[in-house]
Amino acid sequence: MLLRVESVSVAYGAVEALKSVSLSVEGAEIVAVLGANGAGKTTLLKAISGLVPVKSGAIVHDGKKLHGLPPHVIARLGVVHIPEGRRVFATLTVEENLNLGGYGCPKEEVARAKERVFALFPVLKERRRQLAGTLSGGEQQMLAIGRGLMRSPKLMLLDEPSLGLAPLLVDQVFSTIVQINKEGVPILIVEQNARKALSIADQAHILEVGRLVLSGPARELAADERVRQAYLGGATYERRRRIRESRAAGEAPDPRG
Ligand code: ATP
Repeated sequence: MLLRVESVSVAYGAVEALKSVSLSVEGAEIVAVLGANGAGKTTLLKAISGLVPVKSGAIVHDGKKLHGLPPHVIARLGVVHIPEGRRVFATLTVEENLNLGGYGCPKEEVARAKERVFALFPVLKERRRQLAGTLSGGEQQMLAIGRGLMRSPKLMLLDEPSLGLAPLLVDQVFSTIVQINKEGVPILIVEQNARKALSIADQAHILEVGRLVLSGPARELAADERVRQAYLGGATYERRRRIRESRAAGEAPDPRG
């Protein structure tokens, strides 16, 4: 087992953001955690990468205890966290952003990793000298993922890569996630876009107000009536999704809703 999260609880003062959450990533698979705003998805990834302290429970990666270790040590162990919101250095070029991702690694390794990123995202190669702040939202997401790949991750944690992207770009970003996984990188992804995440994941979990309420093979969850109602099929859900997507694409929402 590659990653084991065992009965993990996290609190921000009186707010219990995670309540005894257990899940695992078994090998080179994609595991998705789905949930609405505020369910605790970001907190889960932050707990794994050491950005928030674990109140109780255990997190073990590759046989090593992660809970209690500082974030830079966890990153050095190959656990790469791509945060929500495509955080790139806007005033640096694409290539400078990638170089920073490989900071401290031997030169030849950085060059090799960069070629790999450019092969995966040809648009980043074309724009290697362009300032990151001038890239489109989708390209910035690709750069954020590319920067994470500069360290040959043993596990990639992805926080809502679809956030604020138009549907076509969401498709592009998700197909690269599949590609990265095919190249052998295990992925734990947290998403509000349940449809998309379930379409690429092997295993999936539903997180509601800090608790896992349903877990299983992604295909089974996609067919589960409760999941379809709450996250995939319900009319309110569909309407909200269409409004979100048209906003992301910069269009006026469809008046039919
Ligand atoms: P979103 O999709 O909006 O990012 P999320 O599922 O990632 O939501 P979290 O950001 O993990 O959810 O938040 C879980 C809960 O913890 C929420 O109730 C949130 O308000 C609370 N929370 C998150 N960060 C803090 C913080 N730094 N201090 C206090 N409460 C916090």
